[in-house]
Amino acid sequence: VLIFFMWKFLFSKMGGGGGGVMGIGKNNAKVYMESEIKVTFDDVAGQEEAKESLKEVIDFLNGPTKYTEIGAKLPKGVLLVGPPGTGKTRIAKAVAGEAKVPFFSLSGSSFVEMFVGVGASRVRELFKDAVAKAPCIIFIDEIDAIGKSRDNQMQSNDEREQTLNQLLSEMDGFDSSKGIVILGATNRPEILDKALLRPGRFDRRVIVDRPEFKGREAILNVHSKNVHLGEDVNLAEIARSTPGAVGADLANIINEAALRAVRRGRKTVLQEDLRESVEVVIAGKEQKDVILSPKEREIVSYHEVGHALAAAILKTDPVHKITIVPRTMGSLGYTMYTEEEDKKFLPSKEYFINRIVSILAGRAAEEVFFNIVTAGASDDIKKATSIARSMVSMYGMSERFDMVALESIENRYLDGRAVKNCSEETATLIDE
Ligand code: ADP
Ligand code: ZN
Repeated sequence: VLIFFMWKFLFSKMGGGGGGVMGIGKNNAKVYMESEIKVTFDDVAGQEEAKESLKEVIDFLNGPTKYTEIGAKLPKGVLLVGPPGTGKTRIAKAVAGEAKVPFFSLSGSSFVEMFVGVGASRVRELFKDAVAKAPCIIFIDEIDAIGKSRDNQMQSNDEREQTLNQLLSEMDGFDSSKGIVILGATNRPEILDKALLRPGRFDRRVIVDRPEFKGREAILNVHSKNVHLGEDVNLAEIARSTPGAVGADLANIINEAALRAVRRGRKTVLQEDLRESVEVVIAGKEQKDVILSPKEREIVSYHEVGHALAAAILKTDPVHKITIVPRTMGSLGYTMYTEEEDKKFLPSKEYFINRIVSILAGRAAEEVFFNIVTAGASDDIKKATSIARSMVSMYGMSERFDMVALESIENRYLDGRAVKNCSEETATLIDE
């Protein structure tokens, strides 16, 4: 298996402060039922493989007999796996919309902090209602909250276990020829209880990953369908400058651009609105009240140009924009890169080293031109360290360890943190 990095967004920024991560909290253990779904596959862009795999489910909901007659067992549970905001909920809805069946939805996380027994009885009721409305779709968002593995747990959580057991027994209990399909969504598939993944339960997996360039362009198109775009708008350019963005980010970018156009008293969205909103989404709003001294501005400028120059000379990633406007998410300036036409799916050792060089070139420029060392490089240092560490511990790119797996990625769809698989002594050597 090849693992490659996904940068949240390909950019290096100068300045302290942490970046913001999008998160939407839902908390009420309710089951929602919508009998008529207007969302269709046309509203889901850039997830062609996922849609392809779900076509069978739709066909099955439309006419189960074709399948039962031949003696085929029908899928009961499909797991949608991918990072937050890639459109898992939307795809699930679209399956219901395409099949023209009711859509039941609930969120796993809302089920775990309740009194013992309540979750289980909710699940029981849910299946009763669903059987009455079949054919239908049941969508369980954040299914990992219920279906977390029962091994390796310091303390047991009775409520969750009861809920999970109830879910398993309901899934085994219902007759799939009735036409009920359960779609579960998760961004932590590795922690799911094996019992949940057995044949006859969630035995199918559909990956809904971050979109590539074409996908991002398609998503931008879907979301700008009802937005008045000016003549100069070029969505491909926006797609190219947002590597790593998920559907939710892109939808947000279009909307921010429309709001900006209104603020400027215009009736159409221009490319400049879109460009600015890309930056708002990745780095926050411009901070007008942060006034840097001329000297500081100069340092920030040299720092950013250091990145850009090194990246250009080493031909790592094409530079898209350099800015020294402070933004609310804590950057004083940054360099944005675009994705290359022929994106590197198989980054080489040379590429990683060049990237480290261009990341560290910001600090280097400060030193060379001002003979000064500032705190502005902290984010760069973090990034460079993380690349170097992965080269040693996972990609077999060091002479000392060669091809030994010393760390592995956990939560690949979330923060992608590395976990150590080696002794303390070895860890010290890796650090070195
Ligand atoms: P997830 O369930 O994977 O966290 P959602 O389905 O809730 O993501 O997506 C959030 C929003 O982002 C959607 O309502 C939609 O506006 C937008 N979105 C995400 N992915 C896509 C996509 N592939 N096509 C169109 N819109 C998308
Ligand atoms: Zn920097």
